[in-house]
Amino acid sequence: MTQKSSIRVDIVIFGGGIAGLWTLHTLLQRGYNAILLETNELGSGQTIKSQGIIHGGLKYALTGSLNASSQALQDMPKYWEQCLQGRGAVDLSTTKILSDHQYMWSINKLTGGAASLFASSAMRSQVQTVDTEQYPLAIKYSDIHSKLYKLSELVLNVPSLIRSLSAPVIKNCIKIDATDNYVFDLDDSGNIKQAHVHIAQKKVSIQAQQFIFTAGTGNAHLINSLNSKNCMQRRPLQMVLLKSANLPPLFGHCIGLSATPRITITTHIAKDHVPVWYLGGKLAEDGAKQNAEQVLKQAQQEIKTIFPKLELGDAQWESFFVDRAEEQQADGSKPQSCTLQAQNNYITAWPTKLALAPVLAEQIANALREAKILPNPNITPLSHSFPAPELAQPIWDKLL
Ligand code: FAD
Repeated sequence: MTQKSSIRVDIVIFGGGIAGLWTLHTLLQRGYNAILLETNELGSGQTIKSQGIIHGGLKYALTGSLNASSQALQDMPKYWEQCLQGRGAVDLSTTKILSDHQYMWSINKLTGGAASLFASSAMRSQVQTVDTEQYPLAIKYSDIHSKLYKLSELVLNVPSLIRSLSAPVIKNCIKIDATDNYVFDLDDSGNIKQAHVHIAQKKVSIQAQQFIFTAGTGNAHLINSLNSKNCMQRRPLQMVLLKSANLPPLFGHCIGLSATPRITITTHIAKDHVPVWYLGGKLAEDGAKQNAEQVLKQAQQEIKTIFPKLELGDAQWESFFVDRAEEQQADGSKPQSCTLQAQNNYITAWPTKLALAPVLAEQIANALREAKILPNPNITPLSHSFPAPELAQPIWDKLL
């Protein structure tokens, strides 16, 4: 089959992270003729670098009350569980679950809001206190001075999530060439008439009823190409990887005095079968202002202080910078939920959290319905010979 030089579909999605892939599923289910364009590998932006936690919002309630951020997330663990059992809106029955719970503890006495929140009856279905005899090995190594709380929040194997999401829709995913190669033709009102992209170095023109931008940090460039006002903010992190055969499995937050956990740890198995602790939380937020040497020194100090009885043996340490891309907020803080901006015939969208991608996809579908953008029966499903994007590989297998 020769490569087409023009395509007509209902919807074009730019960006194949969790937001684009979930939106593609949702729109195909609603009968739209939709395609997704990806410049790199599917999941290769923030998604593959996420810790895979399906938050229920407790992390955002450390000050002692359920705020808008925690409320936006509170139904997500149950929603994802249904999908993971193959009974939800998207079938994730082939996605691997790393842990069905997370721990929260402190090496200081917990007196403030978090302790009273966890003790409240509102939290009983989400939080349990763990008896000392039941402590997992990693916590036995820790200098714990609080109760140990077990939260009903899942942690997913993100590479397997990307695989499960992309497999059924891979025919609708197209690898396009580098980002500075595309051009949008606009009409006098600012609507996109068509997008010109390059696929395998050949120019292809795409017409659609609606264009959806779920390109993470790439949204800034897309918005810029449309002469639209920047509406994106970046919140940087420097994440740390610790690899050692001596690491026991651990998924959880060690909390300190601030509203952000002191350190968030998830455990992953590298391709040589050695465990990796992936370290985020305040360590990574503060680390964004440090160089690699400083953050690694800080991380080593934190691990020694929190887990004084942990013998690391031969350990490898690595760090990397990554930006969280979100809708711009007046004070630069995290948006309280997922957000989208609809303008002319394009929508720019950010899930804010991986866990919120299903809510974002639903909101995009609703925005289309409200704008009376319906599947066009005259558009035939695309049959094509364009290349499909590859799937992103775990960051620890690239860096360690
Ligand atoms: P991305 O995953 O960044 O995907 C954007 C995609 O668009 C990429 O594949 C990119 O290659 C592509 N692209 C870019 N430009 C273009 C273009 N012009 N055309 C076509 N394609 C383009 N959330 C949670 O709920 N739980 C967590 O545990 C968690 N941990 C996190 C840890 C880290 C270190 C970070 C950075 C984030 C974490 N998050 C977490 C947040 C979550 O990862 C993000 O909210 C989510 O992955 C964003 O998904 P996205 O699809 O919008 O963007």
